[in-house]
Amino acid sequence: MSAGLPRLSSASPYERLLQVGASLHATLVVDGLGRIVWMDPVLAGAAGWRGSAPVGHRMDKVLGGLPWLTQAVDTALAGTEGLCEGSGREQRLSAVVVPVFGEDGTQLGACARLRTVEPPKPMPAREPRACTVEIAEERKAREHLEQKTSLLRATFDSITDGVVVVDLERDITAFNKRFQEMWGLTDEMMLERSAEKALASAAPLVKDPEQFVRLVQRRFTPSLEEDSDIVELRDGRVFERKSIPQRVGDAIVGRIWSYRDVTAERHAQAEQARLLGAEHRARERLEESFAVLDTFLNHAPIGLGFLGRDLRYIRINDALAALHGRRREEEIGRTVREMTPRMAPVIEPLMRQVLETNTPIIGINMTGEVPATPGEPRHWQVSYYPVRTESGAILGVGAVVVEVTKERRAHAEREHLLREAQEAIRIRDDFLSIAAHELKTPLTPLKLHLQMMKGQAGAGRPVAPHHVDKALTQVARLSVLVNDLLDTSRIQAGKLELSNEPIPLREFIREVLSDFRVVSTLHSLEFEEPGEPLVIMGDRGRLAQVLTNLVENAFKYSPTGGTVRLTARREGGNAVVSVQDEGIGIPEDQQAHLFERFFRARNAPISGFGGLGLGLFICRDIIERHGGRIWVESGVERGSTFHFSLPLVE
Ligand code: ADP
Repeated sequence: MSAGLPRLSSASPYERLLQVGASLHATLVVDGLGRIVWMDPVLAGAAGWRGSAPVGHRMDKVLGGLPWLTQAVDTALAGTEGLCEGSGREQRLSAVVVPVFGEDGTQLGACARLRTVEPPKPMPAREPRACTVEIAEERKAREHLEQKTSLLRATFDSITDGVVVVDLERDITAFNKRFQEMWGLTDEMMLERSAEKALASAAPLVKDPEQFVRLVQRRFTPSLEEDSDIVELRDGRVFERKSIPQRVGDAIVGRIWSYRDVTAERHAQAEQARLLGAEHRARERLEESFAVLDTFLNHAPIGLGFLGRDLRYIRINDALAALHGRRREEEIGRTVREMTPRMAPVIEPLMRQVLETNTPIIGINMTGEVPATPGEPRHWQVSYYPVRTESGAILGVGAVVVEVTKERRAHAEREHLLREAQEAIRIRDDFLSIAAHELKTPLTPLKLHLQMMKGQAGAGRPVAPHHVDKALTQVARLSVLVNDLLDTSRIQAGKLELSNEPIPLREFIREVLSDFRVVSTLHSLEFEEPGEPLVIMGDRGRLAQVLTNLVENAFKYSPTGGTVRLTARREGGNAVVSVQDEGIGIPEDQQAHLFERFFRARNAPISGFGGLGLGLFICRDIIERHGGRIWVESGVERGSTFHFSLPLVE
């Protein structure tokens, strides 16, 4: 018997019955309604039951062959007697039937223990005492059982899941308090034990009552299925429901439903999902903002960058990356020192200052070379700003780099032009005063000589020839000045015309020099003729003008006298003519400008002669237009040698 009865750990009335039955080694266990909870198969056979497992069937149907037992059990179920005994004469069996009570005193059912009846023996003297001992044992067992049962009951009621057990007759055979609370079922309702009624009472609480009822009812039919689903209630609670078949041995005798309130869990899950969603959306928005920011950053015509406190680039735009000669992606996470090693010693201290003082540095002028344009100095206006969170914590440094190279160059160009313009104005003013002075200088003696001539003529005396010569000299001087001015303006206008004829150099130089009269006894003029004939092509008059100018200058700038020496020689395919003097010489720094318009060397006035500074300018133009070159070798107080070369005729 003890091996046949299942031992369950939960404490529904049903289970309690089984427990009591097991403890009593009962052969038959029935519930309060007289339905078989467990029955020894031997007894079922003895009772004449031929069907499948008798569990769940009413006992009067199963115990048809043992009416005395039915009667004994009925008596026990009436609860009026603690112990009942009955026996059938034909079966030679007797039974002790014990009513079983719940914790609250309600009768749960009854257990019957059957014994084979021994043939009647003479009653020993002490028989009444033996009977008393047996009853006392039974009572002890019952108390023990009741204790265990109450423990099981308490456990059953203390679990957080609501549990209900429904048998095949749709009667509630067990439930705990939690189940009753969860579904708000009254004690009266539970006393009725009708699963249908309890279902009808609970259904309005759920959101989808029809489906709820349908599902529960479907499982009133015995099934091996185990279900698990979620029931949502109108008041917001959410139950997780599980149902499993209730078995006794191989037989299904009902179904156990358990409900777990997962509202808080569900809410937490929903909240977590909401937070995740919110976080996801926030991240999306952040990424959108970054995309917008990057678009602005990358299309900005100025360099923009953001560096962390460790001076590593966190964000940088194309313009700034291009200055470093890199792509944006290459710079992220790299330090200033790595990216711009040459500028880093300047930049880093400034950035650290911004981080330490939390104060921006605005509009610093920087000049340097960058890898993108090596060898080319570039200029920037750079600002550094502290980047703070709303709470004031410094995240890093923002760098704004505005390239001002073009502006600087334009500015330098303007300055240069301005200086040139000022210089041109100064030169013009100088020239005007010099020109006025130069033009006026010959006029005074000219006027004097003319007046003398007039006086002589008016007095009827012959005009003295030296007055005529002096007057003519001044006129010649004036015409040289005027011709120089005219030639200069022709050169400027590109209108100086040249003829072209072969010129034998030796004869040509001789001829030009023959016109010179040495003006003072301090000077002498020498011509070192070439040993071979040298013929050039050119404009005789203009080349004579060049030679004359150089020889005149040689005299003019040798106020203390000396020899003026001319040479002509071949140098490769050129003839080189040189005019050497022993005069005041020319400061070295002035020599490069000698052939410019209106230029007069710093030491020129000490020669005592005036001049417009046009002669050498005209000479250079004439020589260069003949395909030649003109240059000077000189030193202050060491005399000067002017050379010009012209291509020889082959
Ligand atoms: P000008 O003699 O009318 O001033 P030039 O063009 O002929 O103009 O000469 C330009 C300048 O070159 C002179 O003012 C003078 O300073 C310098 N120069 C020319 N020739 C000589 C020379 N032989 N010795 C020293 N300085 C000379």
